[in-house]
Amino acid sequence: MPQRVLREKENVKHSAKRLIIITIRINGGTMKTAHIAATGQQFTIGKIICLARNYAEHVKELGNETPTAPVLFMKPASSVISDGEAVRIPAYSQECHYEVELAVLIGTVARNVTADDALEHVAGYAVAIDMTLRDVQNQLKAKGLPWEIAKGFDTACPLSDFVPASEVPDPHALNLKLAVNGESRQDGCSSDMINRIPQIIAHMSSIFTLEPGDVLLTGTPAGVGRVVAGDIMTAEIVSVGRLTIPVT
Ligand code: ZN
Repeated sequence: MPQRVLREKENVKHSAKRLIIITIRINGGTMKTAHIAATGQQFTIGKIICLARNYAEHVKELGNETPTAPVLFMKPASSVISDGEAVRIPAYSQECHYEVELAVLIGTVARNVTADDALEHVAGYAVAIDMTLRDVQNQLKAKGLPWEIAKGFDTACPLSDFVPASEVPDPHALNLKLAVNGESRQDGCSSDMINRIPQIIAHMSSIFTLEPGDVLLTGTPAGVGRVVAGDIMTAEIVSVGRLTIPVT
């Protein structure tokens, strides 16, 4: 057989192999979904956009400056776990922190919306824990590098089911709590947010088109700290959601 024909046969074999590998990867992964339990609605989670430094007391406890513009970062959908699943601390960190946060689920496309119209795009609310590898994040911050490996690793985003937005008359009057092994560590109120949800949505939607299934994390109150393998975290926003998450 001529060389050229042989080479082509090899190429076909290679692309078939590649196709099989791609298929296996898709099947091996899991699409993460957000559930609104009360209505049975399900959304495939898109991007998770998070706000850093949105509670003054938390900004102080980490020795950060209060930002003049909101500080944003993202977590991939693959980082989401549900109630009862475990956070696995990656081997490259010795200091994994919890941050309890109010999560906002986007229900309709929002692009360049005003603060006045922003809440119309919210489908529901949930409780989330923004797991953060503080040692890794501090090293990245010192070098001016992006935070993804400190914030977006697998299991870095425990997320409860959502309640419909219509059942939360005031998202700025919610008590956020987190305990480790039954001991209270965070106990804050969403009224203390520096940027409120309408402003957050207006700002984010001026940069990123927000789409149904996108999840926004709105920052953490004071009291963040370390967890180690064997700990059990419980996070709760009364009338919104509850999470029990072991650490391994
Ligand atoms: Zn956070």
